[in-house]
This record gives sequence, structure tokens and C-alpha cells, in this order.
Amino acid sequence: MTVDAVIVGSGPGGATVADVLTRAGWSVVIVEKGRNHLLDPDDLSRPAADYSNDELKFVHRHFLGPDPIIEPRTFRTGEEEGDHSHVGEVNSIPTTVGGGGTHADGKVPRFREEDFTLRSTHGPVDGADVDDWPITYDDLEPFYAEAERSVGVAGEAGANPFAAWRSGPYPMPSGAPMYGAVLSTAAAERQGLHPYAAPTAANSVPYDGRPACNNCGFCAFFGCPIHAKGDPVAMLRRAMASGHAELLSETFVARVRSDGRRATGVEVVGPDGATRAIDARHVVIAAGAIETPRLLLLSGIDDPLVGRYLMVHFQTFAIGILPERVHGHKGRAVTHLHDDAVIVDDAARAAARAAGLPWVRGGLVEHGGPSLPVMEAKLYPWGAKHKSLMRSSPMRDRMWAFTMQGEDLAQATNRVDLDPTVRDVRGFPVARITYRPHRHEEVASAHHAPSMVRILQDMGATWTMTATSPQVGGRDHQGREDRRGAEAAVPMSRHVMGTTRMGHDPRTSVVDAYGRVHGLENVVVADSSVFVTSAGYGPTLTLVALAARAATAMVGGSAPS
Ligand SMILES: Cc1cc2nc3c(=O)[nH]c(=O)nc-3n(C[C@H](O)[C@H](O)[C@H](O)COP(=O)(O)OP(=O)(O)OC[C@H]3O[C@@H](n4cnc5c(N)ncnc54)[C@H](O)[C@@H]3O)c2cc1C
Ligand code: SF4
Repeated sequence: MTVDAVIVGSGPGGATVADVLTRAGWSVVIVEKGRNHLLDPDDLSRPAADYSNDELKFVHRHFLGPDPIIEPRTFRTGEEEGDHSHVGEVNSIPTTVGGGGTHADGKVPRFREEDFTLRSTHGPVDGADVDDWPITYDDLEPFYAEAERSVGVAGEAGANPFAAWRSGPYPMPSGAPMYGAVLSTAAAERQGLHPYAAPTAANSVPYDGRPACNNCGFCAFFGCPIHAKGDPVAMLRRAMASGHAELLSETFVARVRSDGRRATGVEVVGPDGATRAIDARHVVIAAGAIETPRLLLLSGIDDPLVGRYLMVHFQTFAIGILPERVHGHKGRAVTHLHDDAVIVDDAARAAARAAGLPWVRGGLVEHGGPSLPVMEAKLYPWGAKHKSLMRSSPMRDRMWAFTMQGEDLAQATNRVDLDPTVRDVRGFPVARITYRPHRHEEVASAHHAPSMVRILQDMGATWTMTATSPQVGGRDHQGREDRRGAEAAVPMSRHVMGTTRMGHDPRTSVVDAYGRVHGLENVVVADSSVFVTSAGYGPTLTLVALAARAATAMVGGSAPS
């Protein structure tokens, strides 16, 4: 039997495509290499009950996968390091039904207008490949609105003075603020900044048949036990309820089959290790920005641009210890943001000039609590001191942190390809990441870090520090050497973008403005691989909007109104 579409990956991108296609009556098979903990195996249109607030299970035992021993990736900063300098976890996002949406804490802001026109707005930067997207914010706005309704986003229109225009309000009001964020937003305002309640993919009120978030405190890195996170359970549940979708979990797509002009389906390896073919009229790849280029390369689609222009946000952390308890481990991990560091103002221009760059942009700053109980316990020495430190809890209950998700400029040398020697548990070459930040990221980070420290000091912090990921030259902002060696150069960011760049010209891009692979147009990429710039914002809402736009074009539909 030939289905209308086979979808590789069930994260926010794949789930969105499944929802749009099944609503149009298309038959789809969703293939997911991870296990199914999200949907009830007896009724795949209902959420399962496999999640709990268990730090060991989620953070340390790879409950949602991938286990870096059986599915590693490799890393190097450049060719001079040989085949690779690190084998293990690199930018890992869960490999499970629901993908990263199952355990992201879901801050889902939109990009701004200039994120789509970066080159024409700010100009080129030496050594980077800054470009405009083939679409504008206005093209995507109806799909942003649709994505917010579909996922279920709580937020307050107009709260962020720097936000792009929007055609309507959020579907839900903002949820409760964390106590620490009440303090940090007041301090940020005293510093002349503009904090706002984060648009969040967690229900603030009952929505779409799911309950309101109860601020359990185990959001980032955990599955939601009550399914208050909409992303992507809402879309998968609807697709399965349509009766037009089949879900194959623990099934790895090893190759896209094609006759040279069109894809004819995929070859999969099932949970029993047996290989079989699935015939399909369209193939949608939503495997995430590292596994998508890996699959294209495993399929022999060796356009020299596949895998290039990898971007991950350059993260700058400012951490402070406060005299009072701020309960940073309670609530939705992050409830507030500020965008001031995204804006290229006079001070940013002066910092750029001093560094010999035309401009620098930082990224959105997250206000959050940094530590969980087991994480904290591992930091303290054993014995009586351990007990007293756990009681006074400087590293959890008295700690507050800011994370800037700094814009990462695209560079052709930053890429994903197939590692020449390391294979996964199924015997396939793993993804190798070659990545080194541009100087722009370091300059933007050094320029904006002091402002985050000033907020902590204003809050009354008795101790502060800053750090970056990746660390540059093995040293942090304060010149201290990092003891992790090669691993310190591996970016911790889970915001991964840009490995099958979108554009009109096949000489400079891999897919067109609707995610269709140039020269193989019934293969559609529906994840953040298609991004041209990384902006300074979490990628998920934008990739969901792009996936909805691509799927709408597949079924010949028009933009939602
Ligand atoms: C702790 C954490 C917090 C985060 N917080 C935020 C946030 O606040 N805001 C934000 O915007 N983003 C956040 N993210 C990032 C977010 O999770 C990703 O942007 C999002 O999940 C990407 O969606 P996707 O559908 O493209 O890919 P994924 O979610 O990675 O899903 C891809 C799926 O494809 C499957 N797959 C891959 N290859 C194959 C194959 N060959 N065969 C079969 N299946 C395959 C994978 O197993 C996976 O389940 C966070 C991530 C983490 C880990
Ligand atoms: S904080 Fe809310 S959305 Fe997050 S896991 Fe807990 S109940 Fe779910």
C-alpha cells in the first residue's frame, strides 16, 4: 500500500505536519525512532501516564533518550582536530514520541521582522554567511497565530515592547510568575530594561481538553505528568484521532528511497531489527536539525550544502546567590524574559565598532532558577557539611540565573556530516558536528553579560559569576580555565538550526521557501534545519509555523485567517 505521506520524526515539526495533512484527509505514517511514552498505547489519541517528577529517571537515566552510549554523536571544532575530539552527547534533544516538545519548558516567542531580513537590515559580517530568508515575517504571521492556537500558548499581547506585530491576542492569559521572577523583573525594570511574561506552551487555564499547569517545578528536562504542555501532544493526539494516521515507534528511518527524480518512500529498521520499505507519495523529514541532514546524507542526497550553516544559540549565563530564599526550583523553570539584548542600539554599535565588527546582536534573556535537588546534591561534598549545605541550599533555593540565547551567525564551516568511524547501535554512521562560534557571538556575549550581573546585584546577590557555552579558548568570561577539556567546546544549547538552509537559489540553499528539497520536490523538510538565521529566540514556535505553512502548501490549502 502507498500512503500519501510518510513523516520522519514525531517532535513539534512532524506532529504539526501530521495534524495538517490528516485534517485534509491524507493518509500518513509517522515514523519515530524513540519509544512511546506520550500517547496511550491502547488509544493513541489519548495522552499516556508515563511521566513523573523524577530527576534521576529523566535527567540521569535517559528515560526519554537518546542514550549517548548507544546513539552517540561526535564533535570537533575544526578539521585540525582530526576525525573528532569528543564522542557522546552533542546538543541532544529527546528521541521519543513527541521529540523535544515532551520535555522542553516551552518558552515560545515569535521571531521579529528583522530576523527574516538580517542581511538587508544590518548588512554582511566578514567570515559569516548572513542572509535574508526567502519569506518575510508577514508571510509567516498567519501561521504563527495558527501555531499558538494549535499548541496552546499562554501570553500577553503588547507586554513586550520589542515584539513583532500580531493579528490577535494569545489563546490564553499568562500563567503565574515564579517568585524569583517577581524580584528579577522588578530589578530589571530598575535597570531600564523591559521584562515581560514569557509566551509559554503550558496551559494557564484548561485548554484543548487538557488541564492548567500546576507549576510543579519539573518542567525543563521532564515530561509533564498532567499534559499541561501542549507541544506537541495536542497535534499528535488530533492526528491519531482523525483515523488517517499510523504511528510506528522504535522504528528508525535509514534511507529515503528515490528514483532519482522523486522520492518513492523510505526504508526503515523496526524494533525487531528487520528492514522494510514504506511506499509513500511524499516524504516529510522532521528529524531535527542534526538528524535531518544525517538522514539526507545516509540517503545519498549529497548536495554539498546539506549539513552546512549549523547554528546553535551562544549561551551566556549570569548566576547569583541571594541572601533570601527565592525558590528558583519551583514553577515553570522560566516565566519571564527580556529582549533588550536583541536590539542593535548605540551601545551595541559602539561595542561592535571597538571589536572591528559592523554590528552585534545578543539574544533573548531568560529569567530562571538554575538547580534541581539531585543536581544540587551532586555539587556538595559528603558528610556533615553536605547536610548543612542541603538545608541552607545556596545552589538551589537561594540561586537565581539569567541565560542569554545569543544569536549565532551562520558559517559554512559549521556543519553536520557523517562520522567516518563511529556508528550507532544499528550500525549506521553517526552525525559529526564541526562547530566553532564566530567572533560576533563572543563580542555580543561580553557586551551583554555585565547587564545581567547588574540585575543580580540590584536584587541583592552576595556572589555572582558569568559563564558561556561553548567556552571559548578553554576560558570563561573571567579568564578561568575550564576543566572539562574538549567537552567545554561542545555547545550546551538545544536550539539547533540551519543545516538544510531555505532559499530560492539551489546554488545557495538546499530547500525552497516551502521546505521542498531542490530537485526532489516531494521531499519536504519541516523542522529548524531550514532556518537561514538563528535570531536570538527559541526556534520551536517558528519551526511549527513553518511546518504548518509547508504542510498547507502540500495539500493545496491557503493561509489560515
Ligand atoms: C530541556 C530543553 C528545553 C528546551 N526549551 C525550549 C524553549 O524554551 N523554547 C524553544 O523554542 N525550544 C526549546 N527547546 C528546543 C526544542 O525542544 C526543539 O526546538 C524542538 O523539539 C525541535 O522540534 P523538531 O520537531 O524539529 O525536532 P525534535 O523535537 O528533535 O524531534 C525529532 C524527532 O525525530 C526523531 N528522529 C530523528 N531521526 C530519526 C530517524 N532517522 N528515524 C525516525 N525518527 C527519527 C527523534 O527521535 C525525535 O523524536 C528545548 C529543548 C530542550 C532539550
Ligand atoms: S510546570 Fe506545569 S507544564 Fe511544566 S511539567 Fe509541571 S505541570 Fe507540566
